[in-house]
Amino acid sequence: MSKILDVLDRFYNLKNYNSFGLNVVASYFANVDSLAQLKDLMQSPGFKEDRRLVLGGGSNVLFLDDFFDGLVIHYTKTGWEIVEETENEVIVRAHAGTNWSDFVDEMVDAGYHGIENLSLIPGNVGAAPMQNIGAYGVELKDSFEKLEAFDFQTGKLVSFDKKSCDFGYRSSFFKHGGKDRYFILSVQLRLKKQGQLNRGYGNISDYLKQQGVENPSIKDLSQAIKAIRSSKLPDPLVIGNAGSFFKNPVIHQLLFEDLQQEFPKIPSYPSGTSMIKVPAAWLIDQAGWKGYRKGDAGVHEKQALVLVNYGNAVGREIFALAMQIQLDVKNKFGIQLEPEVNII
Ligand SMILES: Cc1cc2nc3c(=O)[nH]c(=O)nc-3n(C[C@H](O)[C@H](O)[C@H](O)COP(=O)(O)OP(=O)(O)OC[C@H]3O[C@@H](n4cnc5c(N)ncnc54)[C@H](O)[C@@H]3O)c2cc1C
Repeated sequence: MSKILDVLDRFYNLKNYNSFGLNVVASYFANVDSLAQLKDLMQSPGFKEDRRLVLGGGSNVLFLDDFFDGLVIHYTKTGWEIVEETENEVIVRAHAGTNWSDFVDEMVDAGYHGIENLSLIPGNVGAAPMQNIGAYGVELKDSFEKLEAFDFQTGKLVSFDKKSCDFGYRSSFFKHGGKDRYFILSVQLRLKKQGQLNRGYGNISDYLKQQGVENPSIKDLSQAIKAIRSSKLPDPLVIGNAGSFFKNPVIHQLLFEDLQQEFPKIPSYPSGTSMIKVPAAWLIDQAGWKGYRKGDAGVHEKQALVLVNYGNAVGREIFALAMQIQLDVKNKFGIQLEPEVNII
């Protein structure tokens, strides 16, 4: 028991573990750095059945209440290693506690292709499969090989290949059927030693041209993406936020054509057979919410998709704002927005 008490904190403030910067106290908080420690913790009396939450960097969560009555587990094992190498590829295993953005930087420095477009996404490696993180035309699933996870239900270590993760747009098995059951310990990615850069998305090419870069290296691309992201997205260390609050809705072509009659400027991207993706930011902006602020909860003035905490908002204020936006967008466009952020 004393070994377990070493890793446990009582009444722990999670302000630095949620990028909304909310003052939330957890009844227990544990830093664990190995499977053995995790098993010890789960076998100790009291914790097996307790309400629990696995937390990485906290950059995709919104706590509704200021008290989490349960155990928060944070994995601290960091680093990566090559587990397989061929002439053209490497399979790299990264431990769940590794900072995602630092990991991408190290892959870029090593010249391994595949995740450079995912530069500067906040959070840790362990959470990346949860919503199949994506940016600038690339998703985690494009490089994903497998992951290892601890099963809270059976107490066993399990391995998931790409198929069993059931990745979709900002979604995976772990957000649905496997919700709250697994603790992801490591993620393996298949990266290429040489590859085509994916710079057709958004304004990457324009940015590189402006910088006078004609034949970008993987590092040039990563730096361009970092610069574009930093100019567009609020830094959570300055204004609390969790990035995009809602997913971009994917609607049927027929509904889209109806909407186009009424709103000829509605932007769109094809998304599979007969389906169209519409930017949620545009819908929220058109519904008049961009820049809105009530108390310390608001909608970012430059990014309508980003809800913010200007300082002392509480989780329920941000959530109430999100629900008002959801209702308004539904009434105006008939489209149901779905939160991307995990509501706790
Ligand atoms: C400014 C900003 C920009 C962002 N931009 C993007 C973007 O471009 N693309 C994108 O996809 N996302 C983006 N996000 C969202 C966020 O960065 C990602 O979802 C990230 O993967 C979250 O990592 P985290 O460690 O902070 O996860 P957390 O917020 O700690 O956790 C998220 C969820 O995963 C679960 N979880 C965490 N770790 C584990 C684990 N080891 N095992 C099992 N479950 C776990 C948690 O219980 C929770 O449900 C952005 C967020 C911010 C603040």
